[in-house]
Amino acid sequence: MKIGCPKEIKPQEFRVGLTPAAAAEAAGRGHQVLVQTGAGEGAGFDDAAYERAGATILPDAEAVFDQAEMIVKVKEPQAAERAMLRRGQLLFTYLHLAPDPDQTRDLLDSGVTAIAYETVTDARGGLPLLAPMSEVAGRLAPQVGSWALQKANGGRGVLMGGVPGVRPANVIVIGGGVVGAAAARVAVGMGANVTVMDRSVPRLSYLDDVFMGKLTTQFASAAATAEAIRTADMVIGAVLVPGAAAPKLVTRDQLSTMPPGAVLVDVAIDQGGCFETSRTTTHQDPIYEVDGIVHYCVANMPGAVARSSTQALGNVTLPHLLALADKGWRQAVTDDAHLRAGLSVHEGQLTSPPVGEALKIDA
Ligand code: NAD
Repeated sequence: MKIGCPKEIKPQEFRVGLTPAAAAEAAGRGHQVLVQTGAGEGAGFDDAAYERAGATILPDAEAVFDQAEMIVKVKEPQAAERAMLRRGQLLFTYLHLAPDPDQTRDLLDSGVTAIAYETVTDARGGLPLLAPMSEVAGRLAPQVGSWALQKANGGRGVLMGGVPGVRPANVIVIGGGVVGAAAARVAVGMGANVTVMDRSVPRLSYLDDVFMGKLTTQFASAAATAEAIRTADMVIGAVLVPGAAAPKLVTRDQLSTMPPGAVLVDVAIDQGGCFETSRTTTHQDPIYEVDGIVHYCVANMPGAVARSSTQALGNVTLPHLLALADKGWRQAVTDDAHLRAGLSVHEGQLTSPPVGEALKIDA
């Protein structure tokens, strides 16, 4: 199969859909890999690395979209890219169609067959093509939060691990799922005093088991949250209620109860944010202050570490990519119900019931 990888064009997107390592595996199985020049630059992969992997470098996105039978990307296709998609072509990427009627309409009109990373499932009921990005964002959260805690950035000038004789930072992680567990792991590693709060007792039990006393778990009642933030140097918001906007767990009024210069890192900002005072920020201008509390609310945190994120994403997409290329999409989704869960659009038909429900289109 001819597999095409264009350069991402969404602003501030530095990841790429195909790593040279993935290109080599596909080329090694006899597939033709077509990569737009400069596609991997943002992630630190130059054209030569793809050529060594057996790929052919094409001069522009038009050439890739024109020649490829399957397009592999990271972000949902932008309007200019959607205009290049065609019937009979396969698109494999993050789509997030439910809140995006324009994209959905364009994909239906194009006749393309599209498989969305974010709805591919696994045997444990998880979303394996989404999880690595949650892990990246989670591990990054204490790292960016500790930067924001520095005095020059408006923070209260507290060192995460303290020093002998000086207490470490108090870090509260609200939501102990994939993001929260990854954040807790790094915060513990930095030497902070970490509390993870969740409303799922089984999840708290799991975290209690795996961290073996290195952190505290606490049920996230409103009262317990209000109490915990009073002495927090950093609060990491990592909750998810599937299919719903994030619940607001810290109100504006509560900010004045926190130590001045404390930091809120709202990882859940891509679902609307879990602090009342959160608004989306960018990597260029990531923090702002409300009532003396520093807020970090970047919606695409993995983009800050584009190389690691690209590799992490590539590891989980590769088996599916090879199945699609080896067997063709029809046989691949017939053989694998988890991949079939990602099938969102096919030749003008919406094939994802949740997206249909959200957009009021028959699926
Ligand atoms: P997850 O489903 O693995 O975990 C969410 C956890 O939140 C669950 O354990 C759940 O029990 C808990 N929870 C739900 N409501 C709660 C409440 N009211 N109080 C306390 N805990 C509650 O989800 P995840 O993969 O860890 O993702 C967490 C959030 O991070 C999501 O909103 C996701 O979209 C977001 N995210 C953001 C970025 C970014 O770049 N900003 C990147 C990846 C993920």
